[in-house]
Amino acid sequence: MRTIGLIAGMSWESSAEYYRILNEEVARRLGGLHSAKIAMISIDFARLEAQQTSGRWDEAAADLAQAARQLERAGAECVLICANTMHKAAPAVQAAVGIPLLHIADAAGERARAAGLSKVALLGTRYTMEEGFLKDRLRERFGFEVLIPPETERGQVHRVIFEELVLGKILPQSKETYLRIIDGLVKQGAQGIILGCTEIGLLIQQSDRPNVPFFDTVRVHAEAAVDWALQE
Ligand code: GLU
Repeated sequence: MRTIGLIAGMSWESSAEYYRILNEEVARRLGGLHSAKIAMISIDFARLEAQQTSGRWDEAAADLAQAARQLERAGAECVLICANTMHKAAPAVQAAVGIPLLHIADAAGERARAAGLSKVALLGTRYTMEEGFLKDRLRERFGFEVLIPPETERGQVHRVIFEELVLGKILPQSKETYLRIIDGLVKQGAQGIILGCTEIGLLIQQSDRPNVPFFDTVRVHAEAAVDWALQE
């Protein structure tokens, strides 16, 4: 089994889910007492959030590149950025190391394609919904049409992530807001919803909307990493 490297702490609430799913998935596939081989560098989210809001993306990318090098030195054989937003820095992270970066959009795109979808909606931070670093990859590599919510709803989705989910606050009214936004996207023709922020799965689950498939990026990313780790 190969060692999976995690750049974590964005936020730790979702990194804990990565850790749990990686181990559960290896145990499920190999049985017995098996667990995942993992190296993790967990960063300080306050520093990253300040870099994001003040537009210091190069500094944030340099921090992540540094974390990737630390992982490689620690024996990691691949690297995962445990957040969607910081895939904005994926090229810088990949360039910093000789081990492969397993991209979160590829994990989600492969699942949605296998489900036969062509039009998906993307929920995440404003950066993820409005910029191209995930959307373009989903369009170009997988041929999807990618919908995002309207402006006001994008603000609501973003606010809940930063004021609640990264702090571990799971509020029923925010869940209602997210589900209402999803219903609107389904009306516009979305055949699946990419939960493109690693905390969203803490708030809503597939059972809340059985009529439309959800692709939780934590789960699909972690499962893709296990596929890779066991493929020796
Ligand atoms: N975990 C988040 C994501 O998947 C958001 C936190 C951040 O801004 O890095 O995009």
